[in-house]
Amino acid sequence: MHSPAPHVLHYGISKPLIDAGISQHFTPVRIPNDTDYSGLAGSEAAAIRAIAAGGGHDPIDARFFDRLPHLEIVASFGVGYDHIDAAEAARRGIVVTHTPDVLTDDVADIALALLLSTVRRTGEAERFLRSGAWLADAFPPTASLRGRSVGILGLGRIGKAIARRVEAFGLPVSYCGRRNQPEVDYPYYADVLDLAGAVDTLVIAAPGGAATDGLVGRAVLEALGPNGIVVNVGRGSIIDEAALAGALADGTIAGAGLDVFAHEPQVPEALLACANAVLLPHIGSASHHTRDAMARLVVDNLVAWFAGKEPLTPVPETAGRRTAA
Ligand code: NAP
Repeated sequence: MHSPAPHVLHYGISKPLIDAGISQHFTPVRIPNDTDYSGLAGSEAAAIRAIAAGGGHDPIDARFFDRLPHLEIVASFGVGYDHIDAAEAARRGIVVTHTPDVLTDDVADIALALLLSTVRRTGEAERFLRSGAWLADAFPPTASLRGRSVGILGLGRIGKAIARRVEAFGLPVSYCGRRNQPEVDYPYYADVLDLAGAVDTLVIAAPGGAATDGLVGRAVLEALGPNGIVVNVGRGSIIDEAALAGALADGTIAGAGLDVFAHEPQVPEALLACANAVLLPHIGSASHHTRDAMARLVVDNLVAWFAGKEPLTPVPETAGRRTAA
């Protein structure tokens, strides 16, 4: 007798390519409210060997793992996985995979779109035209990219793709991270405050989580100065949003372009009130091309794992688990 195809729990995600891939290769399990796993019954929970997870903010942590005694792998849709306790997963021998690389270029594009629209006020200018105001007067001149220097917080896959684009615009790049990258020519700053003091444009492409929580606060914004621009495509939690709204309102910095927020989809009223902020609803990777590639990678990781192979794109904390087992 054939054993049934492994049970895979859909958690916080529903995409046609993922649904079709899981239905083709596995036994899909859905829970009525995908933000609440307490509804998982004992025998159903015991059958689950994998989770296909959304890249959202619902935590996948020890309490969740406790309910799923036979869980082997969590395949997450997205590259950031601060909502998953990967260290705890590693301790339990559970593999976590994510979707790096396939989304890098689209996210870097959105960083540049935010940079341009913040500095040149293209959103405001378009609203000006649509309102008919152009019939009465010209849109006023704006700040410029010319003469700017760009600091990147988090020079990883996406940060480097942003750096390449910024270089193509003729602007100097420097960066901050936990370690110097000798293979990279850009100046390195170990402290984000020192980076902010050396540049006027800060682009954030670092991961979320405890280590980066509130890293960009009032002091960093003051160091950027009155021409300062902040762009964030990393995680909303990296910026102290109240401090940012204050700095935008009182002219401590000139503008901000944000694709991510601390409590999505909630956006603080104080930021909504800032005309010098360009605000996007977390669309960095949200093109058909990239979302399809991410969905395929979620399924391919699960297929590889249950075929007895290494997962394709494990997070560093759980890399090499199959070999180790
Ligand atoms: P990555 O290749 O791992 O790059 C992350 C970079 O951040 C690394 O260079 C790392 O350098 C640095 N970093 C890590 N921890 C840090 C810390 N505590 N302080 C300062 N720098 C730190 O990841 P990626 O693929 O470029 O993705 C980066 C992030 O972008 C994701 O984690 C996700 O949050 C975000 N993202 C957003 C969207 C969107 O739609 N807006 C889409 C995809 C990803 P060191 O190791 O030297 O510190």
